[in-house]
Amino acid sequence: MAAAIGHEIRNPLSSLKGFTQLQQERYPNTNDFYPIMIQEIDRINSIVNDLMYLGKPKVIEFEKASIEEIIAYTLSITQQQAERQSVTVETIIEGPLSPIDCDDKQLKQVFINLLKNAIEAMPKGGKIKIQVKVSKERKMLISIEDEGCGIAEENILNIGEPFYTTKKDGTGLGLMVTNQIIKDHKGELSIHSRLEKGTKVEVELPINQK
Ligand code: ADP
Ligand code: MG
Repeated sequence: MAAAIGHEIRNPLSSLKGFTQLQQERYPNTNDFYPIMIQEIDRINSIVNDLMYLGKPKVIEFEKASIEEIIAYTLSITQQQAERQSVTVETIIEGPLSPIDCDDKQLKQVFINLLKNAIEAMPKGGKIKIQVKVSKERKMLISIEDEGCGIAEENILNIGEPFYTTKKDGTGLGLMVTNQIIKDHKGELSIHSRLEKGTKVEVELPINQK
């Protein structure tokens, strides 16, 4: 049901976006609001996408993919936002890493969500450390550590609840979707955080799906 409704919302949204872009091209001198309108339409779109994902029962088509490439892609997507906020990212890969069975589009979504959260936790800049390695149990371990605002102990249980956000522009859906995707991959996600010190998110994924 949620998926069907999502679909119905996306269609009119895409024509709205198309016409807004057209207006912007036609009246380039009066377009102060057009970029904002387009940005806000994109935002509705991404909320609807998240809701659709959560509403749909998922059968994943597992394929082999390189975790290095997935992480590199996520870094390219988030790079601009990081630069704007003076956030640097260090990636430590303890290779060689075997390819993992996954839906690479979904894993990209996971790491985009986690990386964005790390960047958003450091409005005054800082460093993010990403570490990737294979555990003794032959699981892929990916950790993302920031030096940001951290999460207060009394809020840690709310994290991942639908619409729980502490951000002015947040949706509170990112971690929910992230949790769902990791669960669909039979993986685990854990969060360790200290207020004003930073947050470390660890993702553990099976390399082979049976
Ligand atoms: P959103 O980013 O839209 O707020 P999320 O589901 O991604 O939604 O995150 C929910 C909340 O969890 C955030 O609003 C924030 O309070 C907290 N959070 C998540 N990741 C971090 C992090 N790396 N550092 C500090 N707080 C975080
Ligand atoms: Mg988020």
